[in-house]
Amino acid sequence: MEIEIATIGGYQEVGRNMTAVRAGDDIVVFDMGLNLSQVLIHDDVRTEQMHSLDLIDMGAIPDDRVMSELEGDVKAIVPTHGHLDHIGAIGKLAHRYDAPIVGSPFTIELVRQEIEDESKFDVDNELIKMEGGETMEIGDEVDMEFVHVTHSIVGAVSPVLHTPEGAVIYGLDKRIDHNPVLEDPFDMERFRELGDEGVFAYIEDCTNAGRKGRTPSESLAREHLRDTLKSFEDYTGGIVATTFSSHVSRVSSLVEFAKEIGRKPILLGRSMEKYTNTARDLGYPIPDDLEIYGHRRSRERAFKRIMNEGKGNFLPVVTGHQGEPRAMLTRMARDETPFKFDEGDKVVFSARVIPEPTNEGQRYAAEKLLKMQGARIYDEIHVSGHLREEGHYQMLDAVRPDNIIPAHQSLSGIAPYVDLAESKGYTVGEDLHISRNGNIVQLNE
Ligand SMILES: [Zn+2]
Repeated sequence: MEIEIATIGGYQEVGRNMTAVRAGDDIVVFDMGLNLSQVLIHDDVRTEQMHSLDLIDMGAIPDDRVMSELEGDVKAIVPTHGHLDHIGAIGKLAHRYDAPIVGSPFTIELVRQEIEDESKFDVDNELIKMEGGETMEIGDEVDMEFVHVTHSIVGAVSPVLHTPEGAVIYGLDKRIDHNPVLEDPFDMERFRELGDEGVFAYIEDCTNAGRKGRTPSESLAREHLRDTLKSFEDYTGGIVATTFSSHVSRVSSLVEFAKEIGRKPILLGRSMEKYTNTARDLGYPIPDDLEIYGHRRSRERAFKRIMNEGKGNFLPVVTGHQGEPRAMLTRMARDETPFKFDEGDKVVFSARVIPEPTNEGQRYAAEKLLKMQGARIYDEIHVSGHLREEGHYQMLDAVRPDNIIPAHQSLSGIAPYVDLAESKGYTVGEDLHISRNGNIVQLNE
């Protein structure tokens, strides 16, 4: 059976991921992501109202025109998890394909909201929920399985196409976490089994391939967070925490530890509301009485209550960990909310600065403004969601693929992974395929 892999987006950058695999006459599209930095660089761009071709020209969404070169039918669109660089272009591209969107329940719920927010196109693809461990039929000779993986958002999977040539694993994004928070451990056993059964091709997440060692477990970030908040137990002033609002496990840890130090957690910000309510609706253990305020008026009221009843009684968990200009923490730093910092108040960043000039500049500014108001900064209480070098080594040992396609990085970001794969006996141009956006990798005739 002919196997071709169209490397559509995310092969020259971190962002706008999209890959299509053709196995015989059947095509499956993995991810349709947005490169948010290409949007934010322009002032006042409203992507909801923009046309796909304009967004493609901006480099914001994948240029899927290469799809016309693949001969076959698209049978499914498969987002691996709910991060925007994997689902953020679905509203702009999915309607062009007559195929269902298949993902884990949490991912599909976020996709549904993404489609509702889209105002330029009508996206009416069927939405199908499938859990890790489950399999569906794609064509006469092709099935798709979801393997449960761990990442910095719940409900992440690695989809596997079972073809007569062997398995094709789409391995974006993951870290090997044996002790995660709120969900099952990484399914290493299944990857080993797949390796034993024969893996024809493996598409890998190279985001952190250049970092040495292994990525620690979310349970480590959780203990770091607990330790930090415990150290404030006797502090009676203001404490504010910020993290990725999509990182439900981390938000849930913050809520738990707020209570341990005798404070009432209050979640503030539109995206905090979106992700936390979605998780709660799907049965993740978010307390029913947790206070979450997304809209401006309700946030203002909550801030006023915090100031009236005493900052020492509360732990506001807010958006703005990257210093995003319109996020809550940045507004608080600019003194645009009723919340007032006093000398010595604590600000906890349970996040790492995404190494990108726009983020770095915005985060620097936000931190500076907070410090000018007397706040003390507790930074980098975080672990990454992506494999580092030793995680990649372990995955190659387990999966032993015939072919490797590195993804999710620029050319320089892929280089450390290429070095590792070469040390494991792979050869560039033979079984190690370095691609660029818009190419088709032909794996057999
Ligand atoms: Zn991700």
